[in-house]
Formats: sequence, C-alpha cells, structure tokens
Amino acid sequence: MAHLIQVGAGSGGMPVLDMVSRDPRITQITLIEPDLYKPHNVERHLFAISAIGEAKAEVARQWLLDRRPDVHVQVMLCDLMAPEAQPALEEVVRTCTLGICAVDNEPAKYHWDALMRRHGKPWTLGEVLSGGIGGFVHWFVPGGPCYGCVASHLQRSVTVEKPVAPDYSNPGGPVAETTVPASITAIHTIASLHAHVTLQLLEQGSAYQPGFTSLLFTLHRVPEVFEEAYRTYRLRVNRSPTCLICQPGKAAASSEELDVALDQALARLADE
Ligand SMILES: [Zn+2]
Repeated sequence: MAHLIQVGAGSGGMPVLDMVSRDPRITQITLIEPDLYKPHNVERHLFAISAIGEAKAEVARQWLLDRRPDVHVQVMLCDLMAPEAQPALEEVVRTCTLGICAVDNEPAKYHWDALMRRHGKPWTLGEVLSGGIGGFVHWFVPGGPCYGCVASHLQRSVTVEKPVAPDYSNPGGPVAETTVPASITAIHTIASLHAHVTLQLLEQGSAYQPGFTSLLFTLHRVPEVFEEAYRTYRLRVNRSPTCLICQPGKAAASSEELDVALDQALARLADE
C-alpha cells in the first residue's frame, strides 16, 4: 500500500511513471502536470499523436488505469510553483509514501525538495544531460543531503554542464532552445535507472544503501567530459554542514526564512 506522488509527465517522467506504477505495492498515484501534449512532444513521448491537445496529466491518468485499473489515480493540473496550488500540494505530500521528481528546471527542483523535506518524505530525481550523453539518478531521504547539497557538490566535482535535461520533461521549454535535445533511447535509459532506484528505495526504505547518493551513467564518449561510454560513476554526497537550505537547526524555519536561504543558495550556485 504505497501512495506515489510525481511531478512531471514529460518524455522522461512518463516512462518512469509507467514502470514504477506496474509495481503492485503502488496503490495510489498523484500526478502534478499542467502542460498540454504538443506535436513536438510526439517524437520522444509514449503518448500517441491522437492525444495532441489534451492535458498530459489526463492522458497519463488513462494510461495508468488501462494498465492498473485497481490504482487510485489523482491528477493535479497545476504548476508546482503556483502560490495558489501550495495548500493542496502540501496536503497531498503530507499523505504520500514517496515522490518522483521529473521536472527539468532548477527552481522547481528546489521547490520540490523543500516540499518533500518539510513532510519528511523520500524521493528520487532523474536528469538526462544535454545531448543525451548520459544522465543522473539521485535519491533523497529525510536527514540526508538536500537537492542544494547535491547540486552544489556536483557543480564543484563533476565536469558536466548544468542545468541539464532540456528534454526530460518539457521539450520545447525555454531551456531547450540553447541545448541539444536528448534521444528517446537516452531518455529511456536514464528513466529505467530512475525507476529501478525508486522501487529499491520503496522496498528498502531507511535501510536503502546502494553505495551512492547520485549515480551518473554515461552513454557517449565525450572528449574532456566522459572518457568512456556506458560507464557508471557512483557519487557519494554528504549533507553539507554549511548548506543554507538544510543546515541542522533550520528544520523549523519559517517559509520566509527558507525562501531567503533558497535565494542565497541559488545566487551562490550561479557564482560558482
Ligand atoms: Zn542541503
């Protein structure tokens, strides 16, 4: 009996949701996705051409019910960041078992991280790198490193361009114009790893210790970036004692304080 909450049903989010939802332990799903299915989505998405013009969340709901009619599926056609959506989002996160983040923009990832940590929920994140040269899977649990800790660590230690994943959940979005789209094979490879890690985290809970907090999998050899294709890097990221977002003693911070901390952290990341 598990309640999964996912944000994003784009080209990367949908295969993750499809695979995770096949697990019989998943009995309830809440999907947050405001976008409509567009013609340019078809090349990399699971949905059919006939779904163009419909809300991705509604098409996803039917997709899930066609395969798991026993699952209770709720869709929220709201933007994760929309102020008016926050009370309903807080309520649904409060009752969930675990979360999946499949959005491609950094502010939304920070917002999701804060939401999940506020309610003490585990969650996972997948990121396909620009051009589909590889991707990341990250997992988060209460008390562990936050997304800010991880993003800051990776910025310092991994020579990979960030932000990533122009095409992971929102092809055609503002980032996509300046980055190279990933192929559907790259998207689905990382999505499969993301789904696998998510189900392992669901199964093992607080005992989950795969030996990494962030898994990087390369798909292409790229001079001065990746020496080899098909290589895994198991990155252990510790909670940073100086992280402005999750530092100990700040757990009861007000939302205003968290907003200030987030602004400071984003400014710091931009400076590095
Ligand atoms: Zn942190």
